[in-house]
Amino acid sequence: MDKIIAIANQKGGVGKTTTCVNLGIGLVRKGKRVLLIDADPQGNLAASLGIEEPDDLEVTLVDVLKKVVNDKPIDIKEGILHHAEGVDFLPANIELAGLETTLVNVMSRETVLRLYIEELKGQYDYILIDCMPSLGMMTINALVAADSVLIPVESAYLPAKGLQQLIKTIGRVHRQLNPELEIEGILLTKVDRRTNFAKDISDKLRAAYGSQIHIFENCIPLSVRAAETSAEGKSIYLHDPRGVAAEGYAALTEEVLTHGQA
Ligand code: ATP
Ligand code: MG
Repeated sequence: MDKIIAIANQKGGVGKTTTCVNLGIGLVRKGKRVLLIDADPQGNLAASLGIEEPDDLEVTLVDVLKKVVNDKPIDIKEGILHHAEGVDFLPANIELAGLETTLVNVMSRETVLRLYIEELKGQYDYILIDCMPSLGMMTINALVAADSVLIPVESAYLPAKGLQQLIKTIGRVHRQLNPELEIEGILLTKVDRRTNFAKDISDKLRAAYGSQIHIFENCIPLSVRAAETSAEGKSIYLHDPRGVAAEGYAALTEEVLTHGQA
């Protein structure tokens, strides 16, 4: 059985891409077959996995989605790249922004990504979708394709308002388009252990949402070494194996494994 997790938050820079890469490679290190899908025209996922110029890539998510839209057959290997640490990934780039605007006029515009992912059935244990910082058509597609959504929340600001909007959107998708959709959990990221601020936010989150939404036990500490990985093209497990961020992502991986049982 494969499990599809969308990593989403319309707030920018909260650690979606970093979580996608390090949870994904964390699952690979536990023997799982994992595909990461970049659903963001910024192309950060590919960049984090060592592709220097995502905009120069010949084949990306856009090409396979166009085939779905035009009802053309898909080669399930098309566009999928392999990273040295064992994870597969389907990159995206700036062209995805163009596709997103044309999707508005397409029949089944919300289900294009799901139709593509259904073609991959049986190939992977986990498929993680790295969403863009918006609640536009691509993010809706990710939520429609997913079994669950993991929400990274940066602990450096009061997230309540933006989070409500996201949870509302997830609720709408759940009711109207994907009754299977669950919330995997809220993940606190960039937690500065030197301050009490994170503790404060974590307490507030638990008070506000803890009764309905899982909040991951393990948060991801603020770490310069974690920030560096985006430019290194490798995971935190190789870049700083003994650091706090590697520990945080390894613990998150365990939590997702026990929670999901894929
Ligand atoms: P976007 O919304 O633009 O897609 P994002 O939510 O995907 O952003 P990331 O790109 O993962 O966020 O992270 C934003 C920035 O914060 C990056 O420069 C990244 O290297 C850095 N970063 C991520 N996690 C941490 C961390 N635990 N500690 C310090 N810096 C981090
Ligand atoms: Mg990102």
